[in-house]
Amino acid sequence: MVPWLLLPPLSGQVGFTHHPFLWTSKKSKAKPNGKKPATEEKKMYLEPEYTKSRITDVGFKELVVLPREIDLNEWLASNTTTFFHHVNLQYSTISEFCTGEACQTMAVCNTQYYWYDERGKKVKCTAPQYVDFVMSSVQKLVTDEDVFPTKYGREFPSSFESLVKKICKYLFHVLAHIYWSHFKETLALELHGHLNTLYVHFILFAREFNLLDPKETAVMDDLTEVLCSAGGRGGGGGDGASGGGTGAQNHVKER
Ligand SMILES: [Zn+2]
Repeated sequence: MVPWLLLPPLSGQVGFTHHPFLWTSKKSKAKPNGKKPATEEKKMYLEPEYTKSRITDVGFKELVVLPREIDLNEWLASNTTTFFHHVNLQYSTISEFCTGEACQTMAVCNTQYYWYDERGKKVKCTAPQYVDFVMSSVQKLVTDEDVFPTKYGREFPSSFESLVKKICKYLFHVLAHIYWSHFKETLALELHGHLNTLYVHFILFAREFNLLDPKETAVMDDLTEVLCSAGGRGGGGGDGASGGGTGAQNHVKER
């Protein structure tokens, strides 16, 4: 990995705890007798006054493209690491509200995500536990020299792309949960512009390299459509507020 593409560690991250679970989550539909289904009007994040909010005018569609002379795996590695730090940071801003009581399951719309342990056994966990599983697993991977090599001459493993896809899948779950369950709090903190910007950058990057299964992301298609379509300023334009985007672009401002 190219070290200069990496960001310094962010402050205010969620605390990591190591756990024995392997990183093999699957999702399944929420039970009909489960938590009450959310209604359309709950989707406050779709309101135009909020969807137009961004922290930068950077055009992400051009920004996510693999630059010439940069190795594909290096590009995937540096961006994935950056997205991990930013999703982690974004979640940490609302983590005090994401409690085992408030978020008893990791649910987004009518989809519920479960964690699977190393034997493939379904683990019943709350949303904060699920996020902790995600963050600690990804942290472990992105700091593993055998998976995300940073030293000159070290090769990426043959499983690298599939690992990146898994990381993206779990980061997507966390972003979707923030929108679905904590948008109100994000609004109160006036961080929705950051969330939208991160989401657009992340989705367009994943789209560019086919890192997310469309079936996986269908649960947020309405938001994706609004934020990433041409009508949503092509995933680029912002509201003119200050800010430097969501990370990796700070290092590659060639636009
Ligand atoms: Zn929550």
